[in-house]
Amino acid sequence: MDDNSGGDLKLKSGGPRSAVRGRASGGCGRRSAVGGRKAVFLDRDGVLNRAIVKDGRPYPPQSLEEVEVIEEVPQALRSLKEAGFLLIGITNQPDVARGTQRREVVESVHRLLLETLPLDQILVCYHDDADGCLCRKPQAGLLYQAAEQYGIALSSSFMIGDRWKDIEAGRRAGCVTILIDYHYAEKEAIPPPDWRARSLEEAAHWICNRLKGGKN
Ligand SMILES: [Mg+2]
Ligand SMILES: [Zn+2]
Repeated sequence: MDDNSGGDLKLKSGGPRSAVRGRASGGCGRRSAVGGRKAVFLDRDGVLNRAIVKDGRPYPPQSLEEVEVIEEVPQALRSLKEAGFLLIGITNQPDVARGTQRREVVESVHRLLLETLPLDQILVCYHDDADGCLCRKPQAGLLYQAAEQYGIALSSSFMIGDRWKDIEAGRRAGCVTILIDYHYAEKEAIPPPDWRARSLEEAAHWICNRLKGGKN
């Protein structure tokens, strides 16, 4: 179910227009640069705010009070913004479908992040695996939705996350993928990310250097 062909088949059969269009530029990676804006897609927990780590695995903060923006994040996002990127949060929040979190709380966290950080938007999947939706990472539905909404060239864009599902979603959309590697006690991304960083700051430097090198 997590393999690429399965995911793409689902998009082909049931996906919205944006998903189908996205599929054309996704999966096989390096299409030549197409017109469109460039974006950095950012996972939320562990990338923007600190994840709550228990037994080596990351969890979202349970309340607004538990939200802690990682200290280097504002500056890293500013540098990406100055380099011309749209900055879009892409997050799975399945605790809402599981009944252990309220959607209002998640929305209040996002209001806080949008007020505090130079993000353009945060797109959310509230489903769990059983819902079979197209937006829950490793599906790339939210990246396709953003691409449609903002006119983003996915092959000139980046996905930054701290778990394999982030990397796989970015890869399926045809983005360059960066793992902020906390060495969680869980499955690794296969195939691996294009690059590994220790922090968002490091990832932002890498992206900006790559731009100067003319690779994107
Ligand atoms: Mg995360
Ligand atoms: Zn979903």
